[in-house]
Amino acid sequence: MGGRTLDLRRGLWYNTAMEVCDVVIAATRPALRRGARLGLLLLAAVLACSATVRAQSPARPRVLMVTYSGGYQHDVVRRASPDRLSLAEQTVVELGARSGAFDTSRLYSREDLERLSADAFAEVRAVLFYTTGSLPLRPEARQALLRFVQRGGGFVGVHCATDTWYEVPEYGELVGAYFDGHPWTQRVRLVVEDPSHPSTKHLGPGLEITDEIYQFRNWSRDKVHVLLKLDPRSVDVGKGKRADQDYAISWIRRHGRGRVFYTALGHGREVWEDERFRLHLLEGIRWAMGGR
Ligand SMILES: [Zn+2]
Repeated sequence: MGGRTLDLRRGLWYNTAMEVCDVVIAATRPALRRGARLGLLLLAAVLACSATVRAQSPARPRVLMVTYSGGYQHDVVRRASPDRLSLAEQTVVELGARSGAFDTSRLYSREDLERLSADAFAEVRAVLFYTTGSLPLRPEARQALLRFVQRGGGFVGVHCATDTWYEVPEYGELVGAYFDGHPWTQRVRLVVEDPSHPSTKHLGPGLEITDEIYQFRNWSRDKVHVLLKLDPRSVDVGKGKRADQDYAISWIRRHGRGRVFYTALGHGREVWEDERFRLHLLEGIRWAMGGR
């Protein structure tokens, strides 16, 4: 609702400023015929008007969403054609626009990632990964991303964001774990460990959801703050690898001055269309953006 109001207000500013421009142009038109000096005056007036339009439309914070699949490609990030957004992209764009919290830039193809420059992160408040396999970023862009989070940028990892960049251990540290198989694809019960976090407070003490449930390696409770975990009684826990049956599903962590939010949820379409997941993700993104 807030987003709609903001958009509306922005539209009014824009229309008003454009009307003023029209008036200036109409009034100056006869003068233009009289001489080039007045023509310059007209140009200055138009430039001033467009500067006003820009000044009155402050840009929202920007989230850079990366959905390149170097390995397995999930249906939710598949684009039907290069210019049509995937379900995951569409969802994040909508979450940002409706809440008014952020605008979304998207990187999808190999070329998008190869072209990414080191200074691209100066424009964004958080980066969101839903990726698999190796990511073809140039070394300087990769370093810039790691530095961006260290210096206060946000990082949001969704589902397979732990199934990527195995060859970049600094990335594994940043996201907090690497994927180590998905023993359960079924309806499960999740326990909310921290109901005070904005991304979980709408979930109550727990929830039931059908999803592909990951287990992790290079993961430790010492390094993360767990928000959601699997209730091991809701699955055949013998299929998992952990003796302690401690399967975290969502966590946050600090990385330098930056904030990292990770949720392992989000394999299939039905999860992305689930209002509980959408709010969990939106609030996770907002929290991650709050580091700077
Ligand atoms: Zn999956």
